[in-house]
Amino acid sequence: MDTLLHATAAGGDIRVLAAITNEITAEAIKRHETSPTVSAALGRMLTGTLLLGATQKEFDRLTVKIESDGPVGGITCEATNSGTVRGYVKNPVAELPANADGKFDVGGIVGKGTFYVIRESGFDIGLRPEPYVGSVPVVSGEIAEDFAYYLAKSEQVPSAVMLGVLLKSSEPFVAASGGVMVQMMPGANPHIITMVEDTIADAPHLTSVIENSGTAEDLIRLALGEIPYEILEVRDVSFKCTCSQERAIGMLEALGRDEIVSMIAENNGAKMNCGFCNAVYTFDENELATLLN
Ligand code: ZN
Repeated sequence: MDTLLHATAAGGDIRVLAAITNEITAEAIKRHETSPTVSAALGRMLTGTLLLGATQKEFDRLTVKIESDGPVGGITCEATNSGTVRGYVKNPVAELPANADGKFDVGGIVGKGTFYVIRESGFDIGLRPEPYVGSVPVVSGEIAEDFAYYLAKSEQVPSAVMLGVLLKSSEPFVAASGGVMVQMMPGANPHIITMVEDTIADAPHLTSVIENSGTAEDLIRLALGEIPYEILEVRDVSFKCTCSQERAIGMLEALGRDEIVSMIAENNGAKMNCGFCNAVYTFDENELATLLN
């Protein structure tokens, strides 16, 4: 099971989130059949969305979305406050050659555009308040830098973010996936974030730690170096979609009687595809006819 840790460090001056997301990224790759570079981009986004969601109590649904002009076209990920995440990209088969460092060209596949964070709450008590929407321009498209830039600019939280995905050629195609997010609390000593940034700059890449059976706590140590920390929470996290047969039926019913009648006449049934997880719900003409009654 993938895990997420929430810790505090430097006497409460910083908050640290770390997650191992090997299974989440593998599940996303399997469901969307993504190219290697898109797999890396989607895995980083799913991990960043989970980490960001873990810092925020007051929401039912946190969506992080990139709309961009690169080959992938856009990435949308959505986390719940119970530790689940789901996500998809516009063009799963987009691909680019490796960049000058021999790494996946995630920045190139994303391109230029806008990074959005949308927080919705109140559903569980029947409210539909206006969602919170924050947005910043995409800075590098490498995803981790984009999360850090968003946090600094839009939420005034100076942060250091590392996200990484290492792939292998056989199933489940993920050798390592995970991330760390270090956030500075209001009033914290600005020197601390510089210390963390220096530690991260000198640290081995986080995917090499995860590949060698590293845990989420190892990632915290990787980011903090000598700074002492205290773990506040450990939770299981997973790729999980909210779609279901019942919801698909609800959507069919919402289309209305005439639409269902024409689906029976023209297609002898209906097929619905969930964009978030690629699940397919099929209904034959008898099942559609039942809905009309
Ligand atoms: Zn789904």
